[in-house]
Amino acid sequence: MSGPWSAEVWRIASIALLGFLVGLLFDRPGLFTALGMFGYAGWHLLQLYRLEHWLRTSRTLNPPEGWGIWGEVFHHIYGLQQRNRRRKHRLAGMLSQYQKATAAMPDATVVLGPNWVIQWFNEAATSLLDFKASQDVGQCIENLLRNPALGEFLAKGAKGTLEIPAPSDPRLTVSLRVVPYGDEMHLLIARDISERQRLEKMRRDFIGNVSHELRTPLTVIGGFLETLAEEAGQDSRWAKSIALMREQSLRMQNLIDDLLLLSRLENEGQTSTPEPVNVCDLLGAMEADAALGMAGKDHVIELECEPGVGLYGAERELYSAFNNLLVNAVRYTPTGGRILVRWYVSTQGAHLSVTDNGVGIAPEHLPRITERFYRVDPGRSRESGGTGLGLAIVKHVLQNHDARLVIKSALGHGSTFTCIFPPERVCPLPVSRVSGGSQELH
Ligand code: ADP
Repeated sequence: MSGPWSAEVWRIASIALLGFLVGLLFDRPGLFTALGMFGYAGWHLLQLYRLEHWLRTSRTLNPPEGWGIWGEVFHHIYGLQQRNRRRKHRLAGMLSQYQKATAAMPDATVVLGPNWVIQWFNEAATSLLDFKASQDVGQCIENLLRNPALGEFLAKGAKGTLEIPAPSDPRLTVSLRVVPYGDEMHLLIARDISERQRLEKMRRDFIGNVSHELRTPLTVIGGFLETLAEEAGQDSRWAKSIALMREQSLRMQNLIDDLLLLSRLENEGQTSTPEPVNVCDLLGAMEADAALGMAGKDHVIELECEPGVGLYGAERELYSAFNNLLVNAVRYTPTGGRILVRWYVSTQGAHLSVTDNGVGIAPEHLPRITERFYRVDPGRSRESGGTGLGLAIVKHVLQNHDARLVIKSALGHGSTFTCIFPPERVCPLPVSRVSGGSQELH
């Protein structure tokens, strides 16, 4: 037993004994013992009252003076208060550091509670999102950032990022990202991406302009080369060189065409209104073109097409994407290969797959294969007339159609490229417009 407690026990025993001895003098030991105990209990009650009164009303940190076990209790309460005070100071310091750090952040940071109610935001949110500290805390964020896209974004679980005009200045664009944490809590981070967008636009415009400017001189050179080829005829001294020059000028023209297409796809995004596209007709035309351009490779091209299923989209862009996949299959499959083009629907949406039994792609190349000018085998690609932009075009067309590309490939065994379109892009076609079924071309 610790010191104060053993002293307390001794005190109780002494009072009881004293009461008993005094009681003996008056021949009432029991009564005097009880009176002593009663008096001591009253003193304890008084200390308890002082403590409760101090806890309830006192503004000072110092507890009342105490004696005996109560002195110990008051002393411990005082120690506890001192520790709490130090901890509070430390936490307040940390909070102020944290607030200074978030205030210094160039990105607007907003803490959102249940139902997207604003609980706190930093300095940047006042300038970028036009929030006012005095009146906007406690408001639902949708009431302040009045943009229909935001409501839809939040309703769909706030996945990914959303780009909207900045409420403070509609010429600026902010990118919003919502990170969930804790219980129904979210952190909204808004970043000004206007500068990045401006630089991206400059880059796109630059590529577009350069390609456009190069197109005219190249057409002129191509025209002269054609004339020269006719003039030179079978003159063996020039025929070979001219044929080579024509081949290279054609390659450059293809490259410029692809660059222009890519720049148009990037600039336009999804602005063009989707039209119902008869995919089976499109694939039929594409297959016929591919058969013409097989350059003696003698592949078997099979087409399986689900009738009555079309796609909402831009026909020209879809043709470019699908054609790039088919041309690649022809290009990267050795003579006498089998290529299967399938158009079918599943619960995931509509699928366009191109399967070949060609050279295949090693797994380490797959993550980068849709990058511009990324080639597994640059020599083979150039030799077969590839620009290195085909799959980048496919990726952009699919992005503009809310679709994704899935690539499955095994080195030496062939590849399957599948474009998956969401169900809302699928459109039924009247039977009269349908030209489906399955056919084979050599
Ligand atoms: P390229 O014009 O060089 O074909 P792409 O962007 O169309 O450029 O393709 C990028 C690279 O991906 C190609 O260089 C080739 O190595 C590889 N590739 C594309 N399609 C196939 C395929 N069907 N089989 C094997 N490799 C392929």
